[in-house]
Amino acid sequence: MSEDVNPFESLQSQIDDAAAVLDVGDDVIERLKHPERVLETNLTIERDDGTLERFTAFRSQFNGDRGPYKGGIRYHPGVSRDEVKALSGWMTYKTAIVDIPLGGGKGGIVLDPDDYSEAELERLTRSFARELRPLIGEDRDIPAPDVNTGQREMNWIKDTYESLENTTEPGVITGKALDSGGSEGRVEATGRSTVIAAREAFDYLDKDLEGATVAVQGYGNAGWIAAKLIDEMGATVVAASDSSGGIYDPDGFDPVAAKDHKNETGSVVGFEGRKEITNEDVLTLDVDLLIPAALENAIDADLAEDVEADVISEAANGPLTPKADEVLEGKDVFVIPDILANAGGVTVSYFEWVQNRQRFYWSEERVNEELETVIVDAFDALVDTYEEHDLENPRTAAYVVAIQRVADAFAEAGSWP
Ligand code: GLU
Repeated sequence: MSEDVNPFESLQSQIDDAAAVLDVGDDVIERLKHPERVLETNLTIERDDGTLERFTAFRSQFNGDRGPYKGGIRYHPGVSRDEVKALSGWMTYKTAIVDIPLGGGKGGIVLDPDDYSEAELERLTRSFARELRPLIGEDRDIPAPDVNTGQREMNWIKDTYESLENTTEPGVITGKALDSGGSEGRVEATGRSTVIAAREAFDYLDKDLEGATVAVQGYGNAGWIAAKLIDEMGATVVAASDSSGGIYDPDGFDPVAAKDHKNETGSVVGFEGRKEITNEDVLTLDVDLLIPAALENAIDADLAEDVEADVISEAANGPLTPKADEVLEGKDVFVIPDILANAGGVTVSYFEWVQNRQRFYWSEERVNEELETVIVDAFDALVDTYEEHDLENPRTAAYVVAIQRVADAFAEAGSWP
């Protein structure tokens, strides 16, 4: 990576691009560029060998004008204060573009979970939950899974919170296992919105999805589900990668079998003898659709020069640097921004929260139908604004819609005399 990009600065420059179009005062925009508060905490737990280890953890509550703070918790060595701040801002504009009544937050612990046992991870997660307890709650701040966290961690956080509060409050966290109050369709939701958004973009651009070629960078929960669903829609997945490398077959391959191979061996590499390529190769293949589904800053300006995809649907948060965005804009690549493309996760989290509060659970069919409506409506709102302001970049259109919604909620709340 030749560019050294701070994701919080990327968020702020994305907001600036939209502010140039919006009729919202600079003072309000300034407020919307910073989190309301950030918790930084040190968690010390006992390792299995009896020694102690300290970890740094964060929770950023970016904006609560439209509802309780909402967003995941990631476990990754690259977690930093600025990363968490950026991710919490992206959550704010994500919940706004899909118009669900929630704000934005994000948390993280600096660690590589592969280096710890399940018992150690449980102690660490429960320790973080104890720190978070005064800040979270179903009407306050509702965490969820993110990179390297899932149902297991969500169940631990729910149990810790409920035990300490002496209550049952499943809506304090989303992304739980079904038996612990989770929702049907939640695990697939991020990948599902990524492909719904791609389908809408192809339709808008008059391109055929049937037979379209697709490359997927990152084969975790979002990437592999997107690959599976786009294949079911008639597209051909020709490349996929994970942190160990990538595979390529111009005639396509079965994305589910590739996932089975990854489950067995730890990587897609080596799957049925498919040609081995690098992660960078996957991002620069001449395909109709590229799905970056790993981490931030996967594509910088240099790499963007070599990108040959026609459409990008961002399953990851922040996969393009702002400079990469500019380069791709110049090359007429249609980029469906993360805050819309991957918003299925938080949308079904919202459905989970609604079900938890009503203690009434929906079928998977209902979840998927409601998700479809939310993503299609958000895409239509993006396109309306894109055309109305004659914008060059769909990302800016998404931010224009989202920031306006947050600014309206802030204005309508009035102020203390
Ligand atoms: N971590 C996911 C995201 O970045 C989901 C957040 C949620 O469900 O609250 O959108």
